[in-house]
Amino acid sequence: MTRRTALEPLTGLVVDRDGERRARPELFDELLAEPQTRILPLWRGRSLVTAGDGAASLDLIEPDRQTTALVRVYLGRVVETGTPVIAVTLTDAAAAELEPDESRWAGLREAGAVLDERDYALFVEAVAITNWHESHTHCPRCGTPTVVEQGGWVRRCFVDGNEVFPRTDPAIIVRVLDDAGRILLGSNAMWENNRWSILAGFVEPGESFEAAVIREVHEESGVVCTAPRYLGSQPWPFPASVMIGFEARAVAQGDVPTTPDGHEILALRWFSRDELWAERDDLKLPGGSSIAHAIITEWYGGPLDQPPPAEGHRAA
Ligand SMILES: [Zn+2]
Repeated sequence: MTRRTALEPLTGLVVDRDGERRARPELFDELLAEPQTRILPLWRGRSLVTAGDGAASLDLIEPDRQTTALVRVYLGRVVETGTPVIAVTLTDAAAAELEPDESRWAGLREAGAVLDERDYALFVEAVAITNWHESHTHCPRCGTPTVVEQGGWVRRCFVDGNEVFPRTDPAIIVRVLDDAGRILLGSNAMWENNRWSILAGFVEPGESFEAAVIREVHEESGVVCTAPRYLGSQPWPFPASVMIGFEARAVAQGDVPTTPDGHEILALRWFSRDELWAERDDLKLPGGSSIAHAIITEWYGGPLDQPPPAEGHRAA
């Protein structure tokens, strides 16, 4: 089972989140009594990963090896096997006790590109929901510490009954093209030298994704674009985002001038496919597990480490 790229259509779920079961009062006792159940241990955002030949897999452990958990979340069942999986966050001491043999603690950014679809889905779900628990421990109304309910998917305040649900912060990421089909790439102030990617930014309250695309592109580049078209999305729990991918077209014709905002974006450039190929040794582009990589690759028409396919063999 290989993991699809972020832009391939979702053909089915690999993890059934089993939302109905979350409400059962004895949920964790029931799950831990099932011999099939596995634990996905998390320690400081990392999990146990065994690396092999260009691939890697999560080490899901048996419940009897579970030690003191800070937070438990029922992630759901693996569709293919029916295996229920519980994510547990561990203290430093508990993590040290696990003492993996072949595996080691690895982060999602590091392991994401080499995990298969099932393990990637479990890891990203576990990191996203436990990040939320870490930063939402108190009631936003009255400040009382909240308790975890619904298998880890709700926190409740016992003073005022307020239920707090997990949140995800949407961010748009956009491939802007000019009338010659060139792609607009920017170099971010926080990145190393000569690293380029497509533009991105958070959706603001009360804003549609499409409006956010047009606003962000204008703010970061001065380019007026139109007709945002949805491409695909990717959860990005660093710490709590989902990236929503778009393509948009510059309104102006010819060589569209660009103005970097000078804060987030320091340099901007339109690249043809041939330029991207010719300058490949000098350009650093987004890593293979990111939607930015998938969006650029789809425009390029093939793998970025090979010459661009001839026109007519491209998607658009
Ligand atoms: Zn409260």
